[in-house]
Amino acid sequence: VMGQMMNQPLLISSIIEFAARHYGGSEIISRRVEGDMHRYTYRDCHQRARRLANALHGLGVGMGDRVATLAWNGYRHLEAYYAVSGSGAVLHTINPRLFPDQIAYISNHAEDQVLLFDLTFLPVVEKIAADCTFVRHFVLMCDRERMPASSTIPDLLCYEDLIATHSDDYAWPLFDENAAATLCYTSGTTGNPKGALYSHRSTVLHAYASAMPSALNVRASDTVLPVVPMFHVNAWGLPYSVPLSGARMVFPGAALDGKSLYELFEAEKVTFSAGVPTVWLGLLNHALQNNLKFSTFRRTVIGGAACPPAMMDTLIDKFDVEVIHAWGMTEMSPLGTAGGLQTKHLDLPKDEQRKILQKQGHAIYGVDMKIVDDDGKELPWDGVAYGHLLVKGPWIISSYYKNEGGDVLQDGWFPTGDVATIDTDGYMQITDRSKDVIKSGGEWIGTIDLENLAMAHPAVLQAACIGVFHPKWDERPVLVVVLRPGMTVTREALLQFFEGKIAKWWTPDDVLFIDALPMGATGKIQKNKLREQFKGHQLP
Ligand code: ADP
Repeated sequence: VMGQMMNQPLLISSIIEFAARHYGGSEIISRRVEGDMHRYTYRDCHQRARRLANALHGLGVGMGDRVATLAWNGYRHLEAYYAVSGSGAVLHTINPRLFPDQIAYISNHAEDQVLLFDLTFLPVVEKIAADCTFVRHFVLMCDRERMPASSTIPDLLCYEDLIATHSDDYAWPLFDENAAATLCYTSGTTGNPKGALYSHRSTVLHAYASAMPSALNVRASDTVLPVVPMFHVNAWGLPYSVPLSGARMVFPGAALDGKSLYELFEAEKVTFSAGVPTVWLGLLNHALQNNLKFSTFRRTVIGGAACPPAMMDTLIDKFDVEVIHAWGMTEMSPLGTAGGLQTKHLDLPKDEQRKILQKQGHAIYGVDMKIVDDDGKELPWDGVAYGHLLVKGPWIISSYYKNEGGDVLQDGWFPTGDVATIDTDGYMQITDRSKDVIKSGGEWIGTIDLENLAMAHPAVLQAACIGVFHPKWDERPVLVVVLRPGMTVTREALLQFFEGKIAKWWTPDDVLFIDALPMGATGKIQKNKLREQFKGHQLP
């Protein structure tokens, strides 16, 4: 017997349609690349997205065609999110922090037909336009006044002209919810970047699940500022989960430094935000140095890399900002786990609660996970045993775009490449990425723990731990440290700081001080570069 419910496909267009109809007056505020602020509503966004859908149709974009963006977080980018996917084409968000030849590579791999880009990226696009062999139309996301008088890009189109000259008379098409909706490439620290091709169904389910109170907890009474970029893993789904929750949305554009962010948080009364640890480092430093408080900011999601406990303490204890530590990856749309306490934890002392919140969190409904040993045997959930973390669920990839890399699943599970523990209450803690784990005398040393400890030292701004060749132990941990401006600590004093906090044999063999750590396109420390740089380093 079948259920007797309406059979409506889960399509991305339904989100903006809902937001425009039921939260039509809710605001979207953007700091524009042009320098000024722009404000409008979900109703306006929906109208312009329909105009853009008509314009794309006019440019010959059909079902399944790829339309790329090179853009910051802003209202025009949001319009593209809905117009492209909503009309049945595939939105390919490109990370502008990649090198120009990498951008051209993935544009060709994706066979992008149209490229929409912000003014900031005009020089890059001019450089690579001739190499992007599939792109038929280049569209600069600005108004007529700001269009360059001349450009090497052939037939450069103006976004605002397209919007102005097309009607909003457009009905979102209905099609199979399993159709491709968006495409995002992993940063590809090893080998060529690989594409994760999300579907309408996976995106809508991820948006539902991630908005839940035990996940990111997005509410209509929130003002949400996604610092996580819309050019990487769809800003953790916020461009979908925020409209479906009816919340106000604030976009920071290109101004991601501590001062600009702080001013925007205050001016627009932001309550909730999301970003990688390095972003909070900048914002918190600015606030601490200038003795500032947040008037409305109450909650933030931190993920993409481990949130150092010291950063969590500062946010909670000094600024009264709740921290949701989350974990995920491009292949998972990206959300897998989110932090938060359960009823049984509410009476625990603060320190014990903090230990729970420091873990990467609890699976959100839709995601299942397990840890296995090298032979694939499942390990116990005791918070001690650690192994390869495998996941499955409706918003996790089953294969890469164009089947790059072949079969990726193991018995129906996706191997994340992370090493983790899971405790009896279901909280997962990442010990390391499997390629970053240090193998010393046949035993594993987790680098995240060592980095977190180092960053608890007042003089340490950032720390990265890498394995360096050792004739007897194969590898030994070495700590690479960036000091806070004006602060010093000696190698010996820092190593002493570890005493009693970890097993003695985990203590790094050396500390190296450098001015800056190499950062990748998604705001993460590039340990492979560090390993390269310090290969052959003589241990004392
Ligand atoms: P890439 O940087 O290769 O594009 P992603 O941006 O998808 O990959 O990053 C996914 C990886 O980032 C995860 O597999 C994990 O190693 C790391 N990561 C994400 N969130 C966290 C977290 N909260 N703590 C520790 N590591 C994390």
